[in-house]
Amino acid sequence: MQTLRRYKDQILGLFSNDIGIDLGTANTLVYVKGRGIVINEPSIVAMNQKTGQVVAVGQQAKDMLGRTPAHILAVQPVVDGVISDFEVTAEMLSYLIRKAQEGHTKFLGPRVAVGVPSGITSVEVRAVRDAARAGGAREVHIIEEPLAAAIGIELPVHEPRGSMVVDIGGGTTDVGVISLGGIVNSRNIRVAGDRFNADIIGHTRNEFKLVIGEKTAEEIKMAIASVASSRDRLEAIARGRDVVTGLPREILITDQDVRNAIGHSVEELLEAVKEVLESTPPEIVADIMQRGIYLAGGGALIRGLPEFLSSALGVPVVVALDPLTAVVRGTSVVLSDLDAYREALVKSDDELVPTQ
Ligand code: ADP
Ligand code: MG
Repeated sequence: MQTLRRYKDQILGLFSNDIGIDLGTANTLVYVKGRGIVINEPSIVAMNQKTGQVVAVGQQAKDMLGRTPAHILAVQPVVDGVISDFEVTAEMLSYLIRKAQEGHTKFLGPRVAVGVPSGITSVEVRAVRDAARAGGAREVHIIEEPLAAAIGIELPVHEPRGSMVVDIGGGTTDVGVISLGGIVNSRNIRVAGDRFNADIIGHTRNEFKLVIGEKTAEEIKMAIASVASSRDRLEAIARGRDVVTGLPREILITDQDVRNAIGHSVEELLEAVKEVLESTPPEIVADIMQRGIYLAGGGALIRGLPEFLSSALGVPVVVALDPLTAVVRGTSVVLSDLDAYREALVKSDDELVPTQ
């Protein structure tokens, strides 16, 4: 039965595209089997409020931010780990599915796997499924992001051994413990990249009386954010508007300033990981102690973060190889062997068997 299904999957695969999608709060990535990552753009959709039509998606939409007439609105489909607007998400998904196949359409509609924030409701799952179908997908498979990340990192998710992934994205950080192909414990907190940006904005306003924009804060973070002090001082220029005079001004900001700014949030992140560890069965904690915690998502790239978490928790912490693409790589692995990962997928309502 299983081999039959596998053959069927393989044959159908010849006539259709396999598309993996990571619908992140900050970045959307699309992986097409045989071609790799074909889309890697900000998760932003520009909508015309008068007509309800999508004007642009991704980088093009982001470039429009703040430079458009009032009736063009930039919308993020996923905010704080939840799908904020079904229609926008649907538009975005069908745009991505179409764009991923441009010049490569096949006889049958594609098989699509979508990574979704952990703990999303069944209503939201249905919305994602419907949206992908409306976008032309022949089959839609849904997988929770921490699990997809673990699969993308090639952790032994099927084994009865615990693994822990901390995926620090833009809007949320997902802490997930995985064993036997499923998530056994998880937490989702709103401390992630966007929070660090907000921290930097708040700090420069309070300490230097300078108002900087979100983009500037993010650039500073990527250039010099670190959790542990080192001998080499890192510096960046922050350009903004003086709070008092209202005129443009620039200052030199150091890694120490950024550390002071984000320190509190980093502590919150640490607490969340601690709480998950504390509520995980001891055998699994023992596995994690041995195998270490894996960091994924863009936030994993903050200097010194693995070392900081490791010394605070007493557990080895490593940054996954290519942490920003772990989820989308996981979705494509799932599609390449659906049979092996069937248990890992989020069930649709009609598949759910009521328990006695
Ligand atoms: P999501 O899955 O929510 O879309 P990503 O995993 O794509 O998020 O990560 C995006 C976040 O990572 C953004 O907040 C971005 O500022 C941050 N980020 C990306 N690169 C770095 C870096 N080198 N240092 C610190 N933060 C980074
Ligand atoms: Mg993500």
